[in-house]
Amino acid sequence: STPIANVAGLARAARRGILVKGGKWLERLGGLRALALDKTGTLTEGKLVVEAMEVAPGVEADDLLLAAARVEAASEHPIGRAIVAAAMGRFEPGRFVDQVVDARAVVGAGIEARLRDDGGSARDENATPGAMPTLRVGQLAWLSELGVALEEDFLAKAQALEERGHTLVAVARDAQLLGVIALGDRVRAEAPAALAALRQAGIEHIAMLTGDGRPAALAVAERLGLSPDLVFARQSPHDKIAQVEALKTLSGDRVAMVGDGVNDAPALAAASVGVAMGAAGTDVALESADVALMGDDLSRLAEAIAIGKKTRAIIL
Ligand code: ADP
Ligand code: MG
Repeated sequence: STPIANVAGLARAARRGILVKGGKWLERLGGLRALALDKTGTLTEGKLVVEAMEVAPGVEADDLLLAAARVEAASEHPIGRAIVAAAMGRFEPGRFVDQVVDARAVVGAGIEARLRDDGGSARDENATPGAMPTLRVGQLAWLSELGVALEEDFLAKAQALEERGHTLVAVARDAQLLGVIALGDRVRAEAPAALAALRQAGIEHIAMLTGDGRPAALAVAERLGLSPDLVFARQSPHDKIAQVEALKTLSGDRVAMVGDGVNDAPALAAASVGVAMGAAGTDVALESADVALMGDDLSRLAEAIAIGKKTRAIIL
């Protein structure tokens, strides 16, 4: 191969806001046949907003939001940011900031923490002193696995919210369900045109891999003209690797994965080319990727492919 063509291609890409870790990756970009895209933060802006809440029987809406915000106060996840922003509009920050200890994110499932028992503002009058209840925010299935009881009537209401295309998270205190919070996100403005350009560039298979639920995933897929057959919801980081491996087989090792999150990092590493969102992407995603799109502009991916094709043409 010609190093000069590679260097020229890398420089052209860099000028267009596409950082490529080396000539090998540029050449691979030029030969792509398949693409796997994360949803939240990649196809969508990842700036979620709380749009609705459904409380469990006997629970006040304020208690539901406050409990969720206490756990999410330290979270960097878009869901956590949205919940904290909603709490900011309703409560004094002192009521939810720094009210928990031992916060722990469970990738692809949710986040948990223990309510501080210092007699401060987080004090729960119904709780036994010294008990330090565990608060959790995350997928209903995760809470259910941990022994949180979910009533049929309530599940039906939650499902109705989810069917409207919302991202849904449930909130629990120990084994008690407090309710669910429904969030909305916006499809990136450039995403429809970017996907059209990628198809034009010869990408035959375009799949969506998301940790979110199927209704929310389908709502985004529909707006982007993605086939429901290639929409994979409720994907754990490990599931995302498996889908990338399947696309690798299908495409003859010519698949790129595009993502932004901690949950995408293993799939980025497994793909023929890993592409990270450069601005809003997490450090872990950037470290696992071979290409970074500065400015998070998805339409740059088709440009990167064009530059890669040109580079290959010069080499051949
Ligand atoms: P995506 O693959 O769409 O980028 P993630 O894997 O980051 O999504 O998240 C998948 C799911 O895990 C979310 O839809 C949510 O149910 C749950 N989850 C992850 N992190 C959190 C959090 N901080 N708070 C609540 N739920 C979370
Ligand atoms: Mg994401």
